[in-house]
Amino acid sequence: MAGKLLIIAGVFSLAILLSCGDSPVESAGEPTPSILSIQLYNDSLVYTSWTQCPDSDFETYILWQSLSAGIQADPSQALAIKIITGNPLQNTWFDSTATPGESYWYVLETRNEAGNSSWSNELGITLPLNEPDNLTVFFIDPSYGSKSGDAMLIRTPNGFNYLIDGGDRSYTWSCGDDVILPLLDSLGITHLDGIVGTHPHADHIGGLIAVLEEIPVTKVWDCGWTGAASGTYEEFLYTIQSSGAQYIQGSRGMTLDWDPDLQVRILHPEQSPGSGNMNNASILIHITFEDVSFLFTGDLETDDGEDGVLAYYSPDDLKADILKVGHHGSSDATSNAWLDAVQPSYAAIEVGSGNPYGHPHGELLYRLDSRGIPVYRTDQDGTFVITTDGTDITVF
Ligand SMILES: [Zn+2]
Repeated sequence: MAGKLLIIAGVFSLAILLSCGDSPVESAGEPTPSILSIQLYNDSLVYTSWTQCPDSDFETYILWQSLSAGIQADPSQALAIKIITGNPLQNTWFDSTATPGESYWYVLETRNEAGNSSWSNELGITLPLNEPDNLTVFFIDPSYGSKSGDAMLIRTPNGFNYLIDGGDRSYTWSCGDDVILPLLDSLGITHLDGIVGTHPHADHIGGLIAVLEEIPVTKVWDCGWTGAASGTYEEFLYTIQSSGAQYIQGSRGMTLDWDPDLQVRILHPEQSPGSGNMNNASILIHITFEDVSFLFTGDLETDDGEDGVLAYYSPDDLKADILKVGHHGSSDATSNAWLDAVQPSYAAIEVGSGNPYGHPHGELLYRLDSRGIPVYRTDQDGTFVITTDGTDITVF
């Protein structure tokens, strides 16, 4: 089991300097300036994120990039690499245009409806020359109001891209349209090699509908639920069919050909679940890349879920360095017996910050804490990334 943790943030999150005074101000009609952070991802992409503008008259973010410092003084020397209008919640961007070996500076301009601007701190970064072939998982923040869910993007060592779940949607918002597609765009991903909808609940498949409608997807794995289901599930199945993606019912014992460097196995469910707790129909996926493994559990709960998997498999089959905790950190999942078998070095929790269920539950956090397992959670950390070269594990 690999166990080394390298936190990039300490190296690449540079000093914060607000460009117009020591503290943000909303007076004089100027928008509240954001605080910009940048990190290097996979030695080749620049991950930019910034504090959200809280102003009611917010209009636009403009992310500027330049080969020299001092962008605010002379923006004509810089490129506006991303313009985001009308959505102050979209506060991350991957810059895939940066060239290895070059140095870049970034600053975020915020504009309001009155046409006034404010500027973030300016940060610089130098890209190294090499580009390793990592397995990388984006644990996407599904938060929006009371919405929660799961949404993970997997980039394989040979450059294939898969989604496991896609968050929820409402009448005015979709995790697919508003979060996942912008992320894919920023990474230069124009099609997906596959999607897994772990089970028919809307907080897992709701956002996938927009993704299937918008970009080509080669294959979709579904649990094959045969019982009563929601209109969202019917729409999901219809959208798979109309998109031209290949539909595959994923069940225990299948191995998936995601990448020649990976071993990808489905551990659950058995054929065609159709009754009982829908959470326990969740597709479980175990991915191994050399010395490092991930386990993705959907909303699998302990009773009739984890217990069945534990009875079927030996603990060696379940071991994983990174555990995507079941059911958004509910206390009804991720039992002590489950943790004894999986023996994770890191726990990742997909959960919305405004969810009405109290997820993640204190009881579950205590189970992880008492074992000394570091926890990363989307409700507090936003979208986070775990990447590995097959030996070392990096979280940022
Ligand atoms: Zn869920």
